[in-house]
Amino acid sequence: MDSDDRTPVCLDYSKIAVVTSFLTAFIKQRKQRIGEIIKTSNERVWTCAKTIAFLKMEHSKSGTGSQPRSSSDINLGPSANPNAKPTDFDFLKIIGKGSFGKVMLAKRKCDGKFYAVKVLQKKAILNRKEQNHIMAERNVLLKNVKHPFLVGLHYSFQTSEKLYFVLDYVNGGELFFHLQRERSFPEPRARFYAAEVASAIGYLHSLNIVYRDLKPENILLDSQGHVVLTDFGLCKEGIEPEGTTSTFCGTPEYLAPEVLRKQPYDRTVDWWCLGTVLYEMLYGLPPFYSHDVSEMYDNILHQPLRLPMGKTVAACDILQGLLQKDQKKRLGAKSDFLEIKNHMFFGPINWDDLYHKRITPPFNPNVAGPGDLRHFDPQFTQEAVPNSVGRTPDMSSGSAIASSAFLGFSYAPMEEDYLT
Ligand code: AMP
Repeated sequence: MDSDDRTPVCLDYSKIAVVTSFLTAFIKQRKQRIGEIIKTSNERVWTCAKTIAFLKMEHSKSGTGSQPRSSSDINLGPSANPNAKPTDFDFLKIIGKGSFGKVMLAKRKCDGKFYAVKVLQKKAILNRKEQNHIMAERNVLLKNVKHPFLVGLHYSFQTSEKLYFVLDYVNGGELFFHLQRERSFPEPRARFYAAEVASAIGYLHSLNIVYRDLKPENILLDSQGHVVLTDFGLCKEGIEPEGTTSTFCGTPEYLAPEVLRKQPYDRTVDWWCLGTVLYEMLYGLPPFYSHDVSEMYDNILHQPLRLPMGKTVAACDILQGLLQKDQKKRLGAKSDFLEIKNHMFFGPINWDDLYHKRITPPFNPNVAGPGDLRHFDPQFTQEAVPNSVGRTPDMSSGSAIASSAFLGFSYAPMEEDYLT
């Protein structure tokens, strides 16, 4: 074409409208195509946790929540999604037993990393009508709870019969285990653990989560000797007075009076529990302890706190404040963690250093590596790992009813789980 033949392009309104509608249709078509590509063919896109999270978000926004979904749907649809399954792991040892199941040391086959996998029997939980607790656990964990003294959850998944939580493997042993060996701890050591526990509780409270079931078995030490709280199973989101009063929770010796009385409780229940743990660390036995359970209940409800000689004024004062039977008068009732932080017992603690793990722990568990089980109770570590733990039962089996009670349980692995 001769350049002289060119006429200047002059777009009047009708031409602009035609071009615009053409471009709109073109963009729409490209978007659809990209959508199809994402849905069907690109495995790598699916393995990116951010994409998964994004698509999951869209899925829930689009109102499909009203439709019945199977548990496999929750695992994000296409077969390209690398759903976690029990056979991903070699289950090596039982390292603990909780209220609903077992905690196993497991090695992930793809990268040889060690995890603590908490395996819960759906049936047992359903029989006990306690699935709400488990769902609370899931919701708590989905809140992206992250704190230096709370166990890290990598991901969770389910089969028709079991729920699996893939947790950081914490191998410094239970605080309880060390306490039993040494009977009691000197004040500075007890203060250090109590401060790390209080910091974690303060954080949970800031998310409106009440831990409620704090006791030495749920306080682990990491390989350096820092505290790690486990077992979110009985954590409750928000405050639900009715739901909480009718169900069993907690171990009798650590139960706060309001829980025993089946009265509504609030976050101050955790400060009571901190008091029981601190008392036990200092004296070697829980406060109000008796072999006779009914007497112990009576002690908790009616008997004054006994503080045998030999502890500092600050220690006695904080114990009296935390173990105050009237929750309204309890230390922490007014300004929660701030009151605990500012108590003279914690005077030697620099809370910022504590949070950043800049305080050297008073005791080093001296573990050789992730496979070192020396600090776990031999009663559990010697038990054989049941074969069924590593099996992936057929989801269409007769346990489908059990599965449906746990819809919404599984969720996407974190990005870090793909960075291997
Ligand atoms: P739980 O059901 O969380 O109370 O756990 C029962 C027991 O398993 C605990 O008392 C610990 O001894 C052990 N345990 C739980 N979680 C972990 C973990 N992440 N790492 C190591 N041991 C754990």
